[in-house]
Amino acid sequence: MYDVKRHLSEVRRSLPQGVRLVAISKFHPEEYIMAAYEEGQRIFGESHEQELARKVEILPKDIEWHFIGHLQTNKVKYIAPYISMIEAVDSLKLLREIEKQAAKADRVVRVLLELHIAEEATKYGLTLDACRQLLSDGEWRQMPHVQICGLMMMASNVDDEAQICQEFQTAANFFNEVKQQYFADDPAFCERSWGMSSDYHLAVSHGSTMVRIGTTIFGPRVY
Ligand SMILES: *Cc1c(COP(=O)(O)O)cnc(C)c1O
Repeated sequence: MYDVKRHLSEVRRSLPQGVRLVAISKFHPEEYIMAAYEEGQRIFGESHEQELARKVEILPKDIEWHFIGHLQTNKVKYIAPYISMIEAVDSLKLLREIEKQAAKADRVVRVLLELHIAEEATKYGLTLDACRQLLSDGEWRQMPHVQICGLMMMASNVDDEAQICQEFQTAANFFNEVKQQYFADDPAFCERSWGMSSDYHLAVSHGSTMVRIGTTIFGPRVY
């Protein structure tokens, strides 16, 4: 078995204080998640609703699950009763559905708005202007069951470190802009979720508060 515990503690040691680790466990077996759990890891990220539902069923109840993938509106109802954070909100339509399903479940669901800054890596996410539009439109203020806690993004999957740094910096600057304009009085709006296995060192030097690391902890995914 891949040495999850050793790799997890190496990652932990390399993270500065105040940066939270989301262990991305998609496509990895329950035993791997339990190995990390035994080392004290409690936040795990998954990107497929059915796989997540299966794992939630059998794994310890004090795990905080983050949904990190593209979420279809028709799947929101399945995860709303238990999800700790939905990291990749990329439309007002999705936000509305989360509000509706969280209300039904009588919960407040924490979310991040996903930015599309990278040249590729993902076709999802809000452009900076679309995100400005969503916030200035203000409908989110009438959503008592949704708490917007910050921003999430993925940098381009390239070797050019200067480009990656520039994308993280763009995200960090944009965070400051919207924090000041819309969330100055809201301490819950504080998360900057950027950084994955290949680029988390660069991400933490550009203001990341939350890194999403899979491969470095669990090894290559078997699809
Ligand atoms: C899979 C995934 C990760 C983790 O990627 P690794 O390269 O395995 O660390 C992080 N964020 C998102 C959105 C992902 O889908």
